[in-house]
Amino acid sequence: MKRPESPTIDIHSHFFPPITRDEAAQLDPDNAPWLQDNGDGTGHIMTGSRAFRPVYSALWDPARRIEEMDATGVDIQIMCATPVMFGAQYPVERVLPWAERMNDYALELCSHNPQRLKPLAQVPLQNIDAACQEASRAKRSGHLGVQIGNHMQEKDLDHEDMITFLTHCAHEDIPLLVHPWDMMGGENRMKKWMLPWLVAMPAETQLGILSLILSGAFERLPRSLKICFAHGGGSFAFLLGRVENAWRERDIVREDCPHPPSHYVDRFYVDSAVFDPRSLRLLVDVMGEERVMLGSDYPYPLGERKVGQLIQEAGFDAATQNRLRSTNASEFFNL
Ligand SMILES: [Zn+2]
Repeated sequence: MKRPESPTIDIHSHFFPPITRDEAAQLDPDNAPWLQDNGDGTGHIMTGSRAFRPVYSALWDPARRIEEMDATGVDIQIMCATPVMFGAQYPVERVLPWAERMNDYALELCSHNPQRLKPLAQVPLQNIDAACQEASRAKRSGHLGVQIGNHMQEKDLDHEDMITFLTHCAHEDIPLLVHPWDMMGGENRMKKWMLPWLVAMPAETQLGILSLILSGAFERLPRSLKICFAHGGGSFAFLLGRVENAWRERDIVREDCPHPPSHYVDRFYVDSAVFDPRSLRLLVDVMGEERVMLGSDYPYPLGERKVGQLIQEAGFDAATQNRLRSTNASEFFNL
């Protein structure tokens, strides 16, 4: 098959470095994540002595990643931490050195092939000064941008601390990927069948986007802010009509948001990880073809297996496919 001329860029993939148990113990001996590598290409992410998730070596072995990128035709892969690495529950004194270490691990993995593997950093959002400093340090040391969760404990993205961080990133041209995590619903209601992934994750992302829109935060944030929401923006595209209707009908929805919610879709980006051509067409229709970027969630099992296939098969013309597969990400991440 003829390869397209512009590089295929996957903006949403995860890594988990070979953190030893001793290293994790410096953060928290009972709960911090580390890697149990079985030596046969499989392993487990562990938290303390508990098996958190079975994984395979693409998460920590850059050579394996490159092989799999070659097999699916991905030229450049942007990789970010697995959210269990954030350490949001710990004090900044402990989590700042941890974040620095994780960010250095990411650079080490990418140094295997720095033209094709590009890292996003993590930052200790429990302290905004430290988060800003680490974001700037990471950018200087070779990270393309920063991945954050869609909230920090009780603080949503419209919290003043978060706005301070987002403004810092806008001023320093640090692009942001927002990933849902620490999901709503708790263990009693989201008990099994991966309900946290299927129900709460899209809702968390929706909460992140709406907290920026309805609070009026986008009115205050610099237009230069580059912010992208994972998983196609969660439930946002499908529910925009509902939000728009509520804004028209109820003053309590309008009170902090001077324009209809749809006015703000040109202030953020989403990835393409929606797994159904009808959903992707709706997403491009709602967001515009300049605002959707190929993202796979590789190498986790809920990621797109044949990275880029959905974009190919959704019925877009060649120019639109090229935007989604390449150009939008090049511009967003300054590649
Ligand atoms: Zn992900």
